[in-house]
Amino acid sequence: MIKKLIKRVFGAAPQIRTEGNCHIIPFEEHGVGRNGISSAARRVTDGLQAAGYSAFVVGGAVRDLLLGRHPKDFDVATDATPEEVRRVFRRSRIIGRRFRLVHVIFGEETVETSTFRRMVDAEDAQTDEHGRLLRDNEFGDQEQDAARRDFTANALFYDPATQEIFDYHDGYADIRAKILRMIGDPATRYREDPVRMLRAVRLSAKLGLKLDAATAAPIASMKNLLDNVPQARLLDEMLKMLLSGHAVECIKKLRAMNLHHGLLPMLDVILEQPQGEHFVLLALKNTDQRVREDKPVSPAFLFAALLWHEVIAAWKARQEAGVRPVPALHEAMDEVLDRQREQLAIPHRHDAVMKEIWLMQPRFEQRGGQRPLRMLTLQRFRAAYDFLVLRCESGEADGELAAWWEEFQDASEARRAEMLLPDSSPKKPRRRRRKKPAADAAQPVQAELPIA
Ligand code: ATP
Ligand code: MG
Repeated sequence: MIKKLIKRVFGAAPQIRTEGNCHIIPFEEHGVGRNGISSAARRVTDGLQAAGYSAFVVGGAVRDLLLGRHPKDFDVATDATPEEVRRVFRRSRIIGRRFRLVHVIFGEETVETSTFRRMVDAEDAQTDEHGRLLRDNEFGDQEQDAARRDFTANALFYDPATQEIFDYHDGYADIRAKILRMIGDPATRYREDPVRMLRAVRLSAKLGLKLDAATAAPIASMKNLLDNVPQARLLDEMLKMLLSGHAVECIKKLRAMNLHHGLLPMLDVILEQPQGEHFVLLALKNTDQRVREDKPVSPAFLFAALLWHEVIAAWKARQEAGVRPVPALHEAMDEVLDRQREQLAIPHRHDAVMKEIWLMQPRFEQRGGQRPLRMLTLQRFRAAYDFLVLRCESGEADGELAAWWEEFQDASEARRAEMLLPDSSPKKPRRRRRKKPAADAAQPVQAELPIA
């Protein structure tokens, strides 16, 4: 439309031109206007350019704008060194030791500003014994900075001043054709950084791009390289997937490419049990929906959901071995968390919330006496209740239970009193007139689960 309009008013539209190895794509071709860029990112590029440097919006933001999506954040790449960037912006700080970046702050927004970098030459590159790059923080020029990026779609530079896109790897054409393609030789690039395999899955699922055949091909035989990646990075990438708003597609793709092994709670095992699979997929669907509606999502809730069927299995096994339900649940939780930590280090800080959510599940069954009222006062009640709803939806728990709690939490005092079931908890011994114990005192004792 815009192109046609401009053609009518001004005659022929400016064409894509080529300078060296770079295609320069004018606004009239790509249609991304500077007002698509956040004001903070524009102030960064304007400020750097006014100081005589070159500066571009780069990476995911340009890609997202071309795909008609709202970018999560705007990163800037420049030929100014971190110290030079620092000098241009009063409110900025240098961060990172390995890759030194500058955070430039405007009000609420922080713009990550990085100096052009190059891939280190094979002979000076520090790699581990599997070819994984340990260092790639040499400064470089714009072209080198494009080449060190992962996918062609992620290697576009946008200049808000001229509204031109600088493209060294045909990323623009790939985006238009909805293809995600690795820059350079895919096998080499996965060896340098195996996380790129996961990024391929996540970005293709999230952006609706087809993974180019040559980009996808080496993954099957290279997936074991993920074993050498530091746990913190794997977890980071896993969380990005789970919180991308497209977790269901990501997990399905991971599974289709056989990449899920060893990453999450034996996702392979869980997904093979019909009820476990149904539950995990429901939890992910629910998370996707929340992310898309901009509602908060807690990683602890998600991990609790992913591991729940593992906990159930371990809990059952303990009880069958004669351990009483409450201690059996505690032991099962610890066992599952320990086992999981060998594969993917879920930070300890999530443990408490995960355990609270799990421990509250059997307590939902107890609907007599004061216990339900006490449940409502617990800080994690809402999360635990949401978890119960998922359990009911997946068929693991009776739907009537979630319906009861849904009504109970908002009911009047009078209605709550009606709803409470007869108390079956152990009673304090009453003064008895008869010598023989009363029949009701012989009822089975139902252990109350401790508040986590
Ligand atoms: P998202 O929308 O999830 O933020 P993104 O592509 O912006 O996606 P980031 O992790 O924010 O991902 O990375 C910013 C840019 O840095 C990417 O667009 C890409 O150009 C480059 N990049 C990130 N990770 C890698 C990697 N492992 N190898 C090479 N380049 C990478
Ligand atoms: Mg990004």
